[in-house]
Amino acid sequence: MHINDIMAKDSPTFSFEFFPPKTPEAAETLFHAIRELEEYMPHFVSVTYGAGGSTRELTHDLVERIKNTTRLDPIPHLTCVCHSADEIDRILARYAKSAIGNILALGGDRPRGLVYDKSRDAFQHAVDLVKFVRRFNESGIHPDRRGFGIGVAGFPEGHPSTPNRLLEMDYLKAKVEAGADYIVTQLFFENRDFLDFRERCLLAGIHVPIIAGIMPITSMSGFRRIAELSGGTRFPARLIRALQRCDNDVKMISRVGIHFALEQCHDLLDNEVAGIHFYTLNRSDATRVIFDSLGIPRRRRAPAEAGSSS
Ligand SMILES: Cc1cc2nc3c(=O)[nH]c(=O)nc-3n(C[C@H](O)[C@H](O)[C@H](O)COP(=O)(O)OP(=O)(O)OC[C@H]3O[C@@H](n4cnc5c(N)ncnc54)[C@H](O)[C@@H]3O)c2cc1C
Repeated sequence: MHINDIMAKDSPTFSFEFFPPKTPEAAETLFHAIRELEEYMPHFVSVTYGAGGSTRELTHDLVERIKNTTRLDPIPHLTCVCHSADEIDRILARYAKSAIGNILALGGDRPRGLVYDKSRDAFQHAVDLVKFVRRFNESGIHPDRRGFGIGVAGFPEGHPSTPNRLLEMDYLKAKVEAGADYIVTQLFFENRDFLDFRERCLLAGIHVPIIAGIMPITSMSGFRRIAELSGGTRFPARLIRALQRCDNDVKMISRVGIHFALEQCHDLLDNEVAGIHFYTLNRSDATRVIFDSLGIPRRRRAPAEAGSSS
């Protein structure tokens, strides 16, 4: 379903993010998690896109499998990295044929362990990809006459490669003016950063819905990995203190991390957030606990909606 229809029907939205599994065993674990999360009927789920190589086809496969075997509405991520315009065109045509409603258009992470020359990419920034998807939408190939709904990334704490925060806001605005319908943010642990970002967007004239990215910490190794992968993320002292109090007790760390994320979610809902997007790391436990504790009734699908996804 086009994101504008999803947002018009229901607010705030709840959504989950998965990454494509690399082995058959990991695929089964993921599908077990998907089945458990399906009961919550998120408004959409999104599937990340690898930085290069064979995992990219896995994104397509996972999106198709979710679309064909569950009642969930998958949104594929797509990036500029190592792609020609023709390749992107073919990927979009394939998703259009499968009636995928939306695309998250991203700059993309640099591939690790590969020699990579960004200047060879057909699109240098996400804004160029957004423009391309927009032109694709105008071709009329997509079964929805509006074409794909388009999402883009936003960084409440700023993106490491643009230290000038005013310029960064100009770049974000350019993505919206190029056709983005919504923004999903990088994960954050301090809601003030998100709320301030949302206000700065408004002041800059950005009026599309901004969905907050939340990742519950469930282990100390996960905690360190987040610091590694989402460069620049701030970890508030009260979170670090709470985790240190756990004294490496694995279960306690997970409970503390989930509780922290739950408090963030309550506060975001009180502040009328447009949506909450959970980075699930392909597991259902933490997201389920948070969801159950938010007091949100499991959504029931309207018959027309259920019919359109089967
Ligand atoms: C919700 C979310 C999902 C993500 N999913 C994935 C994924 O599936 N796969 C993946 O590889 N990565 C993913 N990422 C990571 C993301 O692709 C990288 O962090 C990337 O560096 C930034 O993405 P972007 O779309 O904001 O890129 P861009 O908008 O291209 O921005 C990248 C940098 O360039 C700057 N910039 C933008 N426009 C211009 C311009 N015109 N001129 C000069 N500088 C400019 C920006 O300020 C920023 O510093 C995700 C990030 C988020 C927040």
